[in-house]
Amino acid sequence: MHDYKKFLVAIDFSDSKNKVVKQAKHLAQIFNAELHAIHVLDNIPMPDMPYGTLISLETPSDDIMLQTEKNKFIHTCESMEILPSTRWLIWGTPQDEITRLAQQERFDLIIIGSHGRHGLAMLMESTAKNVIFHAECDVLTVHLQDSE
Ligand code: AMP
Repeated sequence: MHDYKKFLVAIDFSDSKNKVVKQAKHLAQIFNAELHAIHVLDNIPMPDMPYGTLISLETPSDDIMLQTEKNKFIHTCESMEILPSTRWLIWGTPQDEITRLAQQERFDLIIIGSHGRHGLAMLMESTAKNVIFHAECDVLTVHLQDSE
């Protein structure tokens, strides 16, 4: 069996993040694995910054929108006890950056939320579906209700 030692949990800022991170932490404990967290910034304008740029959480930013997103990620990680050295804030498209980081940093498992849409809702863009399709490592999806 593959030895799972390094996990990457994908965090958005929806209410469902708690469920996803809780499962990731639980699994990491069982496997005695390192747990890292990624949030991909895709909702604010970032002119002149190429996709895939790692954003420093230590240096304060003059850009108020960027600093607000940084604070949200820091606060989420603090409340979920994710260590500063295992936090990744990256500018780009969620599915691309999650799979790229997992490959670059040799993660064994990606943990991600999935709404398990069916019927017409399947036509909606799904980050989990794209990550499963493109990831080179294993992916565990945490089932979320549509209301989550
Ligand atoms: P969605 O495709 O919006 O239903 O999101 C499904 C899951 O993808 C979420 O529960 C997160 O685990 C992950 N995810 C979505 N957006 C992001 C993001 N911007 N950064 C990191 N993970 C994300």
